[in-house]
Amino acid sequence: MAAAVRLAEAGVKVHLIETRKFLGGRTASFIDPVTGQTFDNCQHVLLGCCTYLIDFYARLGVLDRIAWHRRLNFLDSQNRLDTLEADDLPAPFHLTRSLLGFKSFSIGEKLAIARGMLAMMRLGAAGRKHWTNRSFAQWLSEHRQPPGAIRKFWTGIVAGAINETPQRVAASYAFQVFQDGFLAHEDAYLMGLSTVPLAELYGGVAERIQKAGGLVTLGCSAESFEFDSQRITALRLEDGRKLNADYYLSALPFDRLQKLCPPPLLAADPRLKNLLQIQVSPILGIHLCFEVPPGRPLMDLPHVVLTESPLHWIFNKPPEPPPAAPPEAPPEAARRYPEPEIRNPNPVGSSVATMQYLHGVISAAHQWVDVPAEEITRMAVAEIQKAFPAARSARLRHARVIKEKRATFSAQPGIDSLRPPATGPVANLVLAGDWCQTGWPATMEGAVRSGYAAAEAILKQ
Ligand SMILES: Cc1cc2nc3c(=O)[nH]c(=O)nc-3n(C[C@H](O)[C@H](O)[C@H](O)COP(=O)(O)OP(=O)(O)OC[C@H]3O[C@@H](n4cnc5c(N)ncnc54)[C@H](O)[C@@H]3O)c2cc1C
Repeated sequence: MAAAVRLAEAGVKVHLIETRKFLGGRTASFIDPVTGQTFDNCQHVLLGCCTYLIDFYARLGVLDRIAWHRRLNFLDSQNRLDTLEADDLPAPFHLTRSLLGFKSFSIGEKLAIARGMLAMMRLGAAGRKHWTNRSFAQWLSEHRQPPGAIRKFWTGIVAGAINETPQRVAASYAFQVFQDGFLAHEDAYLMGLSTVPLAELYGGVAERIQKAGGLVTLGCSAESFEFDSQRITALRLEDGRKLNADYYLSALPFDRLQKLCPPPLLAADPRLKNLLQIQVSPILGIHLCFEVPPGRPLMDLPHVVLTESPLHWIFNKPPEPPPAAPPEAPPEAARRYPEPEIRNPNPVGSSVATMQYLHGVISAAHQWVDVPAEEITRMAVAEIQKAFPAARSARLRHARVIKEKRATFSAQPGIDSLRPPATGPVANLVLAGDWCQTGWPATMEGAVRSGYAAAEAILKQ
């Protein structure tokens, strides 16, 4: 979508082909048949440092649908609530006082985290390249991080941002999260959540393509490329059509792209050589709908990270229609706006029990993908009841577990050598997708960066 919009803006006629009946890919939404509520397949979070994604939303005119949260809430196993929030110290010190005030960390853990952050600052972006083939767990051990700091701080943030465990993730990617997301800028850590289902953000994509004379075909798969030993000569679709174009831009997942390429093409272009070596990492999204007694919402925070729980995040989903976000609130300006409030679905004084929707997320969910959904729901409800005792008197009315087994590529040590650039020896095949060489983990930001890079490569040629 990002590549198509940039190309269309430059006057290029794009024909976008999408196998599903809607745009959005992994950031799709669906209507739950039981509640009729529109859910995203999983909560998607962006940060203030996701500048390309923010630019893309601005181009689509939907930036006002992102609510920016300045307070990030953390709850430990003893129900101590800590809030990470910038104060008026300049970056990189804007979060220091807040972190030092955390009740759930011992003095030793806080000092160790501060030491770790300082080490990453000294390393800088240039230092990342020395750690592309070693795990973050190795770095944590070399920097004498205590188990409490690893469990309650480093692991949760790395899993949430990169969808991998410290043992499985390349240290360079973990550095990027802390350097770019925590230390670089006062607004870099701000957490953006869409106030509307994600699908509603993309309404303008087809319009922009069509306005430039392009086409959007939904519900039809790209099936195979034709290749003449130097260039792609055609793209075959599953409905039998054969399309000819000057450039063929693939934004498919890596395993799908591999299936489109005939053996001579795979042999001719080294970008396509390693596609099947890329590993994946799962994410679980758990949608829970509770009936809450009058005046007693079971959770009144907009979101919380459970630092010592198998359930990593809980998001408080506003009932439909969602509250209006502050107008035009890019991260630079977000500090001027108050923290968005979660509307209490059950206002005090109301005598009628109402519904409260919570959305739980388990990142790097390797050990949960084969567990039955009922068991995952039981675990999630038990963890919510532990964290929010009011949940014990709430009745679970509906639960839906969504297992995304191939949610993201796994940013393991060595992954950089498998991620291809946009362009290569087959000059009219241009690649995009979050798994391409962007320097970012599998995120919406990485996807948009790759899309912009692919569009730019075509425009340059
Ligand atoms: C559960 C989950 C939670 C996530 N949470 C976050 C988060 O909080 N923050 C964040 O930044 N990122 C998150 N991500 C990652 C983010 O969703 C992805 O990085 C991003 O959407 C990738 O975009 P993409 O365009 O590269 O790939 P995709 O979104 O996978 O797009 C590829 C498209 O190709 C289509 N396609 C496939 N085969 C064909 C074919 N043969 N012909 C035509 N079309 C085809 C697909 O239908 C799809 O629309 C999450 C992902 C998941 C799954």
